[in-house]
Amino acid sequence: MSHNRRRVCLKSTLLFAIPICLLAAFAQPSPTHPDSIVVFAPHPDDEVIGCAGVIMQALARGAQVKVVAITSGDGFPAAAAGVTHKPVDQVGPDDFLALSRLRQTESRTALEILGGRADDLIVFGYPDSDLGNLYDSTDGKIFRQQFTKKNETYALIQKDYHTSVHGKPAPYQRSSVLGDLVELLTTLQPTEIYVTDETDGHIDHRAAFWFVRDAARQVGYKGAFYTYLVHGLPSWPFPPEITPNLRFESRKVDGEVAPRGLPWPPPRRVPLTPEQAQRKLKSIQTHNIPVIGLPNHQKEMESFVKSEEVFWTPLAHSR
Ligand SMILES: [Zn+2]
Repeated sequence: MSHNRRRVCLKSTLLFAIPICLLAAFAQPSPTHPDSIVVFAPHPDDEVIGCAGVIMQALARGAQVKVVAITSGDGFPAAAAGVTHKPVDQVGPDDFLALSRLRQTESRTALEILGGRADDLIVFGYPDSDLGNLYDSTDGKIFRQQFTKKNETYALIQKDYHTSVHGKPAPYQRSSVLGDLVELLTTLQPTEIYVTDETDGHIDHRAAFWFVRDAARQVGYKGAFYTYLVHGLPSWPFPPEITPNLRFESRKVDGEVAPRGLPWPPPRRVPLTPEQAQRKLKSIQTHNIPVIGLPNHQKEMESFVKSEEVFWTPLAHSR
């Protein structure tokens, strides 16, 4: 589409001397870019765990990069407790908002570490831990998140997406998520989409896939559609530690091949230079929230630092 538009502009300029394409550019709320990637993160941190290398490589070649945090990461009691130094059973709405604020800040900082701008983070602000319920909801029900008590989109460091575009937040409703996604894809017209895989062990990650898949179909998206894996089952990743010189491996766990439900080798492997792997590590370390009861949480995130990133293409034959 971008190529077609450029050709039309050229022809118009030649015919009328007046650069009509300039008018077209102003008519577009956000001009499309011939190389534009959107990384969807169910929670702030998933984008660097799965896609830090892809993000920094895209930025280095001059692509437009947007990271979309679908939720604010505000439904993780053990992390809210770690951030506010309270027992897990005593954290309240303000503590979850403090966690949300911190996680947004961390994602903005991580994006800068990868060579991007903090403002290229888009926060949808849907409820962490409720994405699956939202996807399954068919009766127009508006959800109230149990942790923050919020029932509409919000962001604390910046405006949430819906407020920034429409001047008011969107209710926590299935149609709101899909509507924001359809609108965003229509505006940005990305050439590559990245989202968590449908086989992921976390329901928010699976629901993110379902929502983004449905939105892509609704807008007739024809670009590349890649998925990445965070909570792979029964265990992931291998090797299970920081190994910047080694590729991801498939292994057998209790007689079952991991990662479950996905072809191996993966259809797309993106090599990272040692420098890129180190920068990925730094971007993951930006997300350094203490999580009560999960002492290995940070180490597990950092174990995604390998000599490559791996992606699947589940929609390659179904669109
Ligand atoms: Zn996540």
